Amino acid sequence: MGGVLGQMMEMDHEQVVFCNDPDTGLRAIIAVHNTVLGPALGGCRMWNYASEAEALWDVLRLSRGMTFKNAVSGLNLGGGKAVIIGDARKQKNEALMRRFGQFVDSLGGKYITAEDVGMETSDMNHISEETDHVAGIDEAMGGSGNPSPVTAYGVFMGMKAASTFRWGSDMLKGRKVMVQGVGHVGETLVEYLVEEGAEVFITDINQERLDAIKEEYGVTIVSADSVYDQAVDIYAPCALGATLNDNSIPRLKCAIVAGAANNQLANELVHGKMLRERGILYAPDFVINAGGVINVYSEVKGFDSEMSMKMAENIYNTTLGILTMADTEGITPQEAAIRTAKQRIDSIARTKSRW
Ligand code: NAD
Repeated sequence: MGGVLGQMMEMDHEQVVFCNDPDTGLRAIIAVHNTVLGPALGGCRMWNYASEAEALWDVLRLSRGMTFKNAVSGLNLGGGKAVIIGDARKQKNEALMRRFGQFVDSLGGKYITAEDVGMETSDMNHISEETDHVAGIDEAMGGSGNPSPVTAYGVFMGMKAASTFRWGSDMLKGRKVMVQGVGHVGETLVEYLVEEGAEVFITDINQERLDAIKEEYGVTIVSADSVYDQAVDIYAPCALGATLNDNSIPRLKCAIVAGAANNQLANELVHGKMLRERGILYAPDFVINAGGVINVYSEVKGFDSEMSMKMAENIYNTTLGILTMADTEGITPQEAAIRTAKQRIDSIARTKSRW
């Protein structure tokens, strides 16, 4: 079967909702991938997609990714995602956000929305006027606030787990680490690394940020085009996705890849295997960058930031378990992570059917 249903079947989606509102100009798609573990939680992305097909592909792919991320992180959440088609800088306004909130509300809690690319906390505040099924609202309004520090801590824990697996010690002192992208997550990661005595290299396309971070932490700046050719112990992608591809992998001179960026492998299967063949240990992105969703989950469940950090700390154990499983079963860490997520979903699904 082709078309939308065909794509849904191929990726195992439960429900896809198309939203159209001529009054506000809202055109959105909400994809609910899997709700076995709980309501489908995933951010809403506003992007100027070239076509509806592209928007649909993105929301289907991202919502599936959320199912695995939430499951492997031990959260009682399913996976979902939403996309709003349009230019966030020009077309976003209160009415559009509130109309989107009404569509989210019409799903009765099956989907919980949150922030993603093109969205801000203030948008979540508008959405919350129309639905309770939204997270990531202002701290002052009872929200969980900025997720980046929790994400950075989780990435640091994942990096330590990879280090233990590779070198038998989680100490990063003296290790050379290349951080690509020193934004919200990257900067805090640099802070943790410097504190532990790692030798940190940074790159970014924003020169002001580079200068400020060099000044604050005494790290070394590397040019954006030479990032893949640096001889380092660990490469931490914290800027964009798909940086692990046909061009970059043969150039890498690191032992470990562990970073915050989403969808680092341009092709999950092909590039996961390519890294393994090159003897480079890959800490799966969706396992180690789950601090963000853990932080949002705190809002849904009502726990505090201390508990969020504790859960992010556990990313160390989860990552180590996945790397060990990959090694034992002769599969890539990405495959092991997906298998772990699927096993949890299947086992909980069985307990539910009994009930
Ligand atoms: P950010 O926008 O604050 O920072 C990204 C940084 O990367 C910016 O400083 C930007 O200038 C830089 N950058 C962009 N293109 C670059 C390039 N070609 N080379 C080098 N640097 C480049 O974003 P963030 O919140 O720090 O998130 C970083 C990554 O982690 C993103 O991929 C995001 O999706 C992912 N992530 C973030 C969170 C979170 O809690 N913020 C959670 C999970 C995943």
